[in-house]
Amino acid sequence: MNCPYCGHSSFSVHSTYQREIQDISLQDKQTILLLSVRKMFCDNPQCSHKTFSERFDFVAPNQKTKRLIDKILFTSTKLSSVSAETLLKSNRIITSKSSICDLFKKMPAIVDKSLITKVCVDDFAFRKRYTYGTVMVDLESHRIIDIIDSRETNSVEALTEYMCTFAINYIN
Ligand SMILES: [Zn+2]
Repeated sequence: MNCPYCGHSSFSVHSTYQREIQDISLQDKQTILLLSVRKMFCDNPQCSHKTFSERFDFVAPNQKTKRLIDKILFTSTKLSSVSAETLLKSNRIITSKSSICDLFKKMPAIVDKSLITKVCVDDFAFRKRYTYGTVMVDLESHRIIDIIDSRETNSVEALTEYMCTFAINYIN
């Protein structure tokens, strides 16, 4: 197993512990997976961490499986978070409206660039006088398409190249 902080291989087990991970319901029952997780030593003296925990590809950081997160997001897309919480609870998936909102905030925006025809571009400050960015907004839906670092737009060529990924009437 490789250390997630330095990439060094480790074969030394420090201890094991159990995690409870909520999964999609099975036969109308709430499903909790009990995972036995290994805590490992990192033997790399250059590493900033002495130990690390085993990670699983199917588990999201919030004690849920990734497929459960997908189901929660799919169910909640066209509902209020309160209605989604109630509907999911009736399907034996326990989550809260605030958790649903957090999931949507963390979800990357999926934009089909081929459908966008008019874009507005504006600069803003991440940190005034230090770091600047450029925000791109779809003029028809008024949704943010992308936020890019000012470094990428320092030259007209870089911005032009980026804009060529869109079929657009460019409006600044
Ligand atoms: Zn390490």
